[in-house]
Amino acid sequence: MSNKPHKARKRFGQNFLHDTRIIHQILMAIDPQPNDHIIEIGPGQGAITEPLVHSNCKLDVVELDRDLVERLSRRFTSSDQFTLHSADALTFDFAALHKGKPLRIVGNLPYNISTPLLFRLMDQSSHIGDMHFMLQKEIVNRLQAGPGSKQFGRLSIMIQIHCQVEALFDVDPECFTPKPKVMSSIVRLTPHAEEKYRIDNIVLFEKIVKAAFAQRRKTIRNNLKELCNDESLGVVDINPSARAEALSIDDFVRLANHLNES
Ligand code: SAH
Repeated sequence: MSNKPHKARKRFGQNFLHDTRIIHQILMAIDPQPNDHIIEIGPGQGAITEPLVHSNCKLDVVELDRDLVERLSRRFTSSDQFTLHSADALTFDFAALHKGKPLRIVGNLPYNISTPLLFRLMDQSSHIGDMHFMLQKEIVNRLQAGPGSKQFGRLSIMIQIHCQVEALFDVDPECFTPKPKVMSSIVRLTPHAEEKYRIDNIVLFEKIVKAAFAQRRKTIRNNLKELCNDESLGVVDINPSARAEALSIDDFVRLANHLNES
């Protein structure tokens, strides 16, 4: 095993944080407590891992790059408090780590896997207390967008049905090595304590949302013509000539539940 500096791998979406001010700001946002159970996705060279370890929380980290796993294992000793998982976060069973205490998940996420990873975490959101992620700013804008905005779409809806979304602050490309091409932001996702929307059939709901936004410039009537007609839209009080981005999440929930019954 070499002691040479690690060479960042593009295919793993590696952009390492080096800016101490930003690292501090991220830690302040997470505010780790000694009794917390935190999972870090993509610890990389340990920029966030190190201060998390010092907070005395229980920490599990999940890293895909074996070379980095090797380096991390030399730097941080395994204990009751710290476990290093050499694994792919996209297939990792987060719920299996759940020991009763809500999990807190953090990570400067590899941008190429951020959307599928978020979708996966939503399926396990009942075990999660909160999440703090570094994402492309553009993705964060989509996560928090509401009806009427150009960014409002499938991602906004599928996250907001499960979580409250707070964009916290932006992070300049200069804070990383190598520098990413785009601006990043830190976002906090907090799963709703109680079910906020009653969705009878989540598979159908997602199918409708996906179809509704398939062609943003088209009307709801057009995008949903395979799934429903003007009459069903009328029953749930949706104007067939509207565009998907004008509908609220409640509109989509009413429509999906109505179509599920009929
Ligand atoms: N947290 C570090 C590294 C961020 S770069 C920092 O802020 O400096 C993203 C990290 O995620 C890299 O370490 C990369 O190897 C890792 N990674 C990429 N794909 C992954 C996956 N599917 N599962 C787990 N880790 C992954």
